[in-house]
Amino acid sequence: MEKEFETLITQLKRCKICKEKFGFEPHPIILGNAHSKIVQISQAPSATVHKTLTPFTDQSGKKLKYEWYQIGDDTFYDPNNFYIAALSHCYPGKDKNGIDRTPPKICYNKWIKKELEYIDNKLYVIIGAKAAKVFFPNENFNELVFKNNYINNKLALVLPHPSPLNIKWFKDHPEFMNKRIIEIRNTIKDILK
Ligand code: SF4
Repeated sequence: MEKEFETLITQLKRCKICKEKFGFEPHPIILGNAHSKIVQISQAPSATVHKTLTPFTDQSGKKLKYEWYQIGDDTFYDPNNFYIAALSHCYPGKDKNGIDRTPPKICYNKWIKKELEYIDNKLYVIIGAKAAKVFFPNENFNELVFKNNYINNKLALVLPHPSPLNIKWFKDHPEFMNKRIIEIRNTIKDILK
């Protein structure tokens, strides 16, 4: 099993399927192992992460790690703690309107679905509406954020996107910062103990 997982990750790190679609060399960003305690899946790496090749080294990452989780980089980037992946393992570039492209569906079908079969995590953290739609296609995003959900019979917490551009959502949902993120942080800290 372990060997198969390693082979899968080696192949994934070499994946260039979307090169033509993106118009540049894709850089698959993945961190973690088959025993990571928490599987975290977001939408896609940002342009900054495309350069640094380390997930969440941008403004969204600062908010997620230091404000929301309140953990340091040593904890966040420990592969035994977090398996960090996204619907698009690579930064997908921008469309003609300058907006980040939607994650290519093939990435989930070809890679993520298989990766998840090997990981014996205790918790899922799903970040952003696009990722939540894949795992909970028939549920309301705002309701998902404020309740406990389950994937493969394991607890799954849903977070809004921590992007600095996501201002309106936080204005409309002050209870997220006042209450829900504290519950989520405590759950994560318990699992990382
Ligand atoms: S986004 Fe996924 S499918 Fe596309 S090149 Fe990157 S790893 Fe491959």
